[in-house]
Amino acid sequence: MPKIDLHCHSTVSDGLLAPADVVRRAAANGVDLLALTDHDDLSGLAQARQTAQELGVGFVDGVEISVDWEATSVHIVGLGIDPQNPQLVAGLAELRRGRHGRAERMAEALAAVGIQGALAGAARYAANPELIGRAHFARYIAELGLAKDVKSVFDHYLAAGKPGYVPHRWAGLDQAIAWIVGAGGVAVIAHPARYRLGSNSRRRLYDIFKTLGGKAIEVASGVHNQDEVRELAAVARRYGFAASTGSDFHGPGESQADLGQVLATPPDLETVWQRWLPT
Ligand code: AMP
Ligand code: MN
Ligand code: MN
Ligand code: MN
Repeated sequence: MPKIDLHCHSTVSDGLLAPADVVRRAAANGVDLLALTDHDDLSGLAQARQTAQELGVGFVDGVEISVDWEATSVHIVGLGIDPQNPQLVAGLAELRRGRHGRAERMAEALAAVGIQGALAGAARYAANPELIGRAHFARYIAELGLAKDVKSVFDHYLAAGKPGYVPHRWAGLDQAIAWIVGAGGVAVIAHPARYRLGSNSRRRLYDIFKTLGGKAIEVASGVHNQDEVRELAAVARRYGFAASTGSDFHGPGESQADLGQVLATPPDLETVWQRWLPT
């Protein structure tokens, strides 16, 4: 069985390893086909692809787009996109621009609960100044010793409803899918089990995603347990979605799953990766 990982992050967004090091680690873990899917940014893909070619790892250009869905945010992965596509490039640039103001508002909200200097502190962790996000704030707050690890910083400060959380407008679901499809890619709902959605809102998400041209959902993921894999396999069958899979690896010691470390995808499902495997 080929080892597939179609969801992971580098220092271009909120991962801890540079793009080439992500690929080296994937190769060392025996990954046969890898997609780098940084949040809202394509600038790691060229380096990652070159390293993958040198190491004989199959490589798919990817991205994970931040989207508003009703009262929450969801992530849409684009796989097999053309990184030069002008609409995709421009759309993501606009999304990144919004992150600056959001980071300032987050820092103000954190200052109000006694955490000073969070903007500068988070910026030290953001290798790409255009892509500052909650994970960078979380690393700074963990460094201050205010929580035992990054995960518990989210639980106490950064998750929706916590003091450092500020609402933000991301891309529309329609926009994200249009950018991905327009760039020749396949749109995938990332880690569907991680969203706090009521059953009606969840059904609407799947229905509208499909209507807009979405083709796949992550079934097995580094952030899904076995029960969630089973439930999402049923969703894939019901809606006619292909299965994607990925670790959502962000870095050693910070992620639940290492690169290539994902539960098996139920064998009856159509997979999104078949088209990229050597025949
Ligand atoms: P942002 O795009 O700035 O809202 O940050 C979202 C990122 O924060 C996700 O991609 C994860 O890397 C991280 N994240 C979100 N929720 C959690 C959580 N509960 N525990 C750990 N990391 C999280
Ligand atoms: Mn992330
Ligand atoms: Mn995500
Ligand atoms: Mn991710």
